[in-house]
Amino acid sequence: MVDSYRHKGMRLKLVETVREKGISDEKVLKAMQQVPRHVFMDSSFVEHAYEDKAFPIGSDQTISQPYTVAFQSELLQVEKGDKILEVGTGSGYQACVLAEMGAKVFSIERHRKLYLKAREILNKLNYYRVKIFYGDGFEGLPTFAPFDKMIITAAAPVIPKKLIDQLKVGGTLVIPLGESDTQVMKTIVKQSDGTLEGEEHGYFKFVPMLRKKAND
Ligand code: SAH
Repeated sequence: MVDSYRHKGMRLKLVETVREKGISDEKVLKAMQQVPRHVFMDSSFVEHAYEDKAFPIGSDQTISQPYTVAFQSELLQVEKGDKILEVGTGSGYQACVLAEMGAKVFSIERHRKLYLKAREILNKLNYYRVKIFYGDGFEGLPTFAPFDKMIITAAAPVIPKKLIDQLKVGGTLVIPLGESDTQVMKTIVKQSDGTLEGEEHGYFKFVPMLRKKAND
């Protein structure tokens, strides 16, 4: 697994770009400086790995744009030791950024091939704080609940009820919500009486959150 000075240099530039676009949480920026994004993509795409763009990773899915990863990570306000559920492992990159910030990450992916690929990469990189699962994110992971925080990295048609059940009181869910071309990024905080308090944070574009596992 090569992570050269050249890679680190490109990464530094990417982090500065993300900072200029408005991300100010130093913990997020530091984590993104650590995680070798090029390892999550095919090696022939190394230049693209350090552009601030989403990129295809197979099964019709994409690794999120670095700015979006930073934005969602910032909204989560990660504290060391937080137990975080991610829906949409994809490449595994976002999960590693959260792990680098000190979180214990449980991540679910519905595409078998992506799950297997991400598992291989995580093993190589030794991210022992990330556990990934092949399954349907709408179901969450009841065995490991409750979670301090949750992040959905696909466009959700609704706020999944089962996820809210698995979220601690006072916990935050970061969710791009909506079925049309763009989604509104929301933070949802679960109140002690079970109600939800939401805030909006602008518009983004995600691949759809789909029901049930896919065999490819
Ligand atoms: N976080 C990823 C971005 C992945 S894109 C990264 O850092 O690379 C969104 C991912 O969500 C896709 O891989 C897609 O297959 C997955 N997905 C969509 N609906 C899902 C569901 N119901 N459960 C689990 N994963 C889902």
